[in-house]
Amino acid sequence: MGGSLRRGVTDVHVHLQPFEQAHPATLEVMRQRVKGFGALLEKLKDPRHLLDYMDRSGVERACLISYPAATVLGLTPDLRELATYAATDPKRLLPMGSVDPLHTREPGAEVERLAGLGIRALKVHPPHQLYPANGYLDGSAPGLREIYATAERLRMPVMVHTGTSVFPGARIKYGDPIALDDVAQDFPDLTLIMAHGGRPLWCDTAFFLLRRHPRLLFDISGIPPSRLLSWFPRIEEIGDQVLFGSDWPGPDVPGMGEEVAAISALPLSEEFKEKLFVSNARRVFPG
Ligand SMILES: [Zn+2]
Repeated sequence: MGGSLRRGVTDVHVHLQPFEQAHPATLEVMRQRVKGFGALLEKLKDPRHLLDYMDRSGVERACLISYPAATVLGLTPDLRELATYAATDPKRLLPMGSVDPLHTREPGAEVERLAGLGIRALKVHPPHQLYPANGYLDGSAPGLREIYATAERLRMPVMVHTGTSVFPGARIKYGDPIALDDVAQDFPDLTLIMAHGGRPLWCDTAFFLLRRHPRLLFDISGIPPSRLLSWFPRIEEIGDQVLFGSDWPGPDVPGMGEEVAAISALPLSEEFKEKLFVSNARRVFPG
């Protein structure tokens, strides 16, 4: 990347999913919108390649996200494999799994099983898993209550996707971050991370919620760096809540290091950037 690298950067949003399982339509999006996707998929099977890429990108730690989304994406990951992969370097690779509340008989027990495997956090992906993030209230996803309650008890952070998705079959209505107003109130000790800030449709809702719930965290991944300050002009007001994420290797993401560089170049205070890249993530994912 050149220049001087910031030390201790955590990227809280990296996708490490078994795309060889994916529906043809899902794969087509990846092939069209991720440069060199086929070769990359092969290389990423070896965690040493990923660690090397992180070194070159100036990233010390990465959350590795994998979640089941059989209907929309065709993905049914083996999260034991993810945990084994991350165990190559547990200080740097933080596995983030997921429990599908619609297709899991005992979702609370499943959260405990994942924690036992070494999974550090959970992903909730409403547009790809087809339920609202507050679906424990209206009966559309009752299992979510056990998932949130167990994660709260085990101190596992839960990241919720908000905003749009480019994948065919995704139900965008479930990306409205307003559902997190319920989750933040009903599970007050849960470490809740809002991914993508409702981009681009609900950024005002997202910012309102972040100010209303000071413990709610904001992973800025999936927002083009060139848009961050026009979509979140007052982001410095919520400096204790922001987390850096690249969303690599997602559609249209140029690279992990490219995201670090582009965000670093924005006219934001050094104090804010240190919180964004380093210290907030140390608080959320200690050790
Ligand atoms: Zn993502």
